[in-house]
Amino acid sequence: MSPSHNKPLVLANWKMNLSVRQSVDLARRVTRSLSRTTKIDLVLCPTFPALPGVAEVVKRKSIALGAQDVFWKAAGPYTGEVSPAVLRELGVKYVIVGHSERRQYLKETDIVVQQKTLAALAQGLIPVLCVGETFAERQAGQKDVVIMRQVTAALKGVTLPSGLGLVVAYEPVWVIGSGQAVEPREALHTAQVIRQVLIDIFPPSVIERQVRLIYGGSVDTTNIAAFVRQPPLSGVLVGGASLSAKQFIDLVRQL
Ligand code: PEP
Repeated sequence: MSPSHNKPLVLANWKMNLSVRQSVDLARRVTRSLSRTTKIDLVLCPTFPALPGVAEVVKRKSIALGAQDVFWKAAGPYTGEVSPAVLRELGVKYVIVGHSERRQYLKETDIVVQQKTLAALAQGLIPVLCVGETFAERQAGQKDVVIMRQVTAALKGVTLPSGLGLVVAYEPVWVIGSGQAVEPREALHTAQVIRQVLIDIFPPSVIERQVRLIYGGSVDTTNIAAFVRQPPLSGVLVGGASLSAKQFIDLVRQL
């Protein structure tokens, strides 16, 4: 991953909430206030059509560009899909894969998520692999089992030669957009479960240097500190609270 691996990672997932103009405007406001922030790795993930505009805004700044999804092939007859090679061409560095909204609405399976993870890595992009249990799975006592299955399946056949990075985001599906994050100790417990799975897949030095674990789900100014710099957690994926420049800037300034 980057030499700044020890810095907290904050990703803003704007989902499909903003127009191109609104995305560029928000990127400008965030960049104006935060581009001199050197102690945090910041990533903006706009909707696909806004990537070129936001890329222009963050160019030569310390803020990185992320995409919200990717296809599992680099080129070919795949109408409507977006290639990881094209994302790279646009200056994208991170790509979200396996977000629960895609698993739910687009019926993405563990195999699809694994294919996307491999394709992203093949282009030198850093996958932000999202895993998390639904409320029903949690109530059935299946939380850790679901997380372990999702991580194991998504990383089947994945190797991380030096220079490549991976982020695993624990995002409990039932708290996303709810305004109520999980208790930090629960997020930390789940991060330990994820770490245990990673230990069976990658050498310890790779986990140490190239993999980051983060939390996502109703992160806001009041709770962000509890999820960052709390090993093994070292960052957050932020949805709703990243849509207002003021709120997002306040949030990052908590760190
Ligand atoms: C998300 O969907 O990735 C997310 C973290 O959303 P929110 O912060 O709105 O819960």
